[in-house]
Amino acid sequence: MRLEYTQSQRVFRKEVRAWLADNLPAKPLQSLDTAEGFEQHREWEKTLFDGGWSAVTWPKEYGGRGLGLIDWLIFEEEYWGAGAPMRVNQNGIFLLAPTLMEYGTDEQKARFLPRMASGEDIWAQGWSEPGAGSDMAALRCKAERDGDDYIINGQKTWSTRAVYADWLFGLFRTDPSAPRHQGMSFVLLPLDLPGISIRPIRQLNGQPGFAEIFFDNVRVPAGNRLGDEGAGWRIAMATAGFERGLMLRSPGRFQQTAKALVNLYKANQERADRDPGIRDAVIRGYVAAEAYALSTYRTASKLVKGGRIGAEASTNKIFWSELDLKLHETAMQILGARGELLPHAPEAAGIGQWLDGFLFAQAGPIYAGTNEIQRNIIAERVLDLPRS
Ligand SMILES: Cc1cc2nc3c(=O)[nH]c(=O)nc-3n(C[C@H](O)[C@H](O)[C@H](O)COP(=O)(O)OP(=O)(O)OC[C@H]3O[C@@H](n4cnc5c(N)ncnc54)[C@H](O)[C@@H]3O)c2cc1C
Repeated sequence: MRLEYTQSQRVFRKEVRAWLADNLPAKPLQSLDTAEGFEQHREWEKTLFDGGWSAVTWPKEYGGRGLGLIDWLIFEEEYWGAGAPMRVNQNGIFLLAPTLMEYGTDEQKARFLPRMASGEDIWAQGWSEPGAGSDMAALRCKAERDGDDYIINGQKTWSTRAVYADWLFGLFRTDPSAPRHQGMSFVLLPLDLPGISIRPIRQLNGQPGFAEIFFDNVRVPAGNRLGDEGAGWRIAMATAGFERGLMLRSPGRFQQTAKALVNLYKANQERADRDPGIRDAVIRGYVAAEAYALSTYRTASKLVKGGRIGAEASTNKIFWSELDLKLHETAMQILGARGELLPHAPEAAGIGQWLDGFLFAQAGPIYAGTNEIQRNIIAERVLDLPRS
């Protein structure tokens, strides 16, 4: 890997920076876990799409720019560096889209990708069930074949923003008699079908960040299945690789948080230096964010040369989730009691976002497969240790 940008990559970076400077929303958007905030974020997706920035690596025919992974990393660095909003369609753009590109038919790609890129269809992920979290192969929500359709019955849970989303990609049991990893299929369905009821799950802050989804004889065309019947587990594992690996958590956002942490430390240095451990944690956090960026460039270079992402997806996931937690914990230590101010509190100017980030960072070691499970994967598949 050569750690140097080409002339065209440098030009590209300037172009991204200029566009963001001209088009960023004047005021921060409301939380995407509220109905209003969700719609504001959907509009932002449309603005990105109209500017050609919604999905820079996708082929042009589906609404992308046809650029490479390194360009995407540059875009992400600029995106987060400019303080741009969270992507409300991240489940679609970063998880389902790469899966569709690999396993979808041409018809499915043409049907789903352009509407995803423009924010017309916002996607939720329907994997977890009350009895199937870490052990996802235990899922029981059924999709039974009936002519050209599937009839779906059962329940999903913890589906992020499914309260407002338009479509769901999920894993359903199509053959209960098959070995448990083989009897599942990957199905795409609109969330307004008859027989679907969605019950919000409120977070501690009162906002409905998640939903339970109940299916009562929901009829879905078999043409909405991604890949072969029974191949759902293998396809979902590819999606999970994207989630834990490169796409969902690009380094730009952690580099931005690390820079903000350095600035927070400088602005509060006298107080922070009373505990020598804080200065050390700031330095370590900054270096770790840079190391994550370099490691991601290495993975991207490997992929560009035709390689595949393997167990490093699990090491990545542990690294970014623990890094995010550490950066926010250090910020809270610097802020002391002021760190508890909610973002909209009058005295919270400039610091309120640290509490939001701190609360969300708690979830990092859980979602996208818990870190305990990632450690099991590394132990068994990388280190070849015996199963416990
Ligand atoms: C912010 C957030 C967003 C989410 N969004 C979605 C979403 O959009 N769609 C969706 O389908 N799901 C979503 N989830 C659910 C998430 O995928 C599950 O919470 C996760 O897979 C863990 O499952 P569980 O909660 O059932 O915990 P459990 O599986 O019950 O695990 C409980 C604890 O036991 C540990 N444990 C379990 N088995 C083992 C083992 N074999 N070895 C060692 N330790 C073990 C776990 O690591 C964990 O610490 C989200 C979760 C969060 C926090």
